[in-house]
Amino acid sequence: MRGRAIRSGLVAATAGAAVAGVLLAAPAHAADGPVYSGKGWKAFTSAGIYSISPDPYVIRFASATARDRLTPALKRAAVQITEVTGVKVTVSSELTPGARPPCSEQPRHVMTFHMKYRPIGKRGMSQSYACTSGADGSAFGGAVVMNSEYWTSPNWFSNNKTTNRVMRDNVTLHELGHLFGLAHVNTDRDGDGRVEGGECVRNSAGRKPVMCTPTGGYRTAASGGRYTWEFDVPGLRQMRKNYDLR
Ligand SMILES: [Zn+2]
Repeated sequence: MRGRAIRSGLVAATAGAAVAGVLLAAPAHAADGPVYSGKGWKAFTSAGIYSISPDPYVIRFASATARDRLTPALKRAAVQITEVTGVKVTVSSELTPGARPPCSEQPRHVMTFHMKYRPIGKRGMSQSYACTSGADGSAFGGAVVMNSEYWTSPNWFSNNKTTNRVMRDNVTLHELGHLFGLAHVNTDRDGDGRVEGGECVRNSAGRKPVMCTPTGGYRTAASGGRYTWEFDVPGLRQMRKNYDLR
């Protein structure tokens, strides 16, 4: 989905220790404030999400098709998010069929994955519907509708079977990232006044953040379907810290 995030600058206040007399008091450090963007990541503040809560989250499915196709990738994603944030994320095999209810009627900290052919009527597009807890601005849960054509159209992403699987996993990860409060990280890198598809920071190997649109991330079988360690992971970590810093 297109997320327009508002960039908030970090106000870093450094308190100088006053030297009075011979004894130095322990220097007073100003508490670090929350941070809403960094290299290759951006908080989904335009959706009202500023942080990740320490309370557990559960991922579940609206259909057996969604469950069968997405469980492996989401289980790996859940393990990684728990590793880097300390927040327990689990994948349930329970099915909750039916249409996506409004955020106000959804259970807290539940993320439901649906699968549909071109959910917003556009080729290649999936959609996420992130909910905010409002009161404290943490990720509340929400829903994702994955586009089934990544699975049903032969060679959707490429002619390579492994690449196709890795890309499907990365797109799943990308949509999940929105629910956890990460927005798109595209910026006007070429300075032509427009923020275009794929215009994202990259590392020396050309790797882009998973939260770039179109989706970036690792391309190898071993690393695919993981948030990038240099871009997305610091974002997830900071989002968890923001819960305590806000
Ligand atoms: Zn997106």
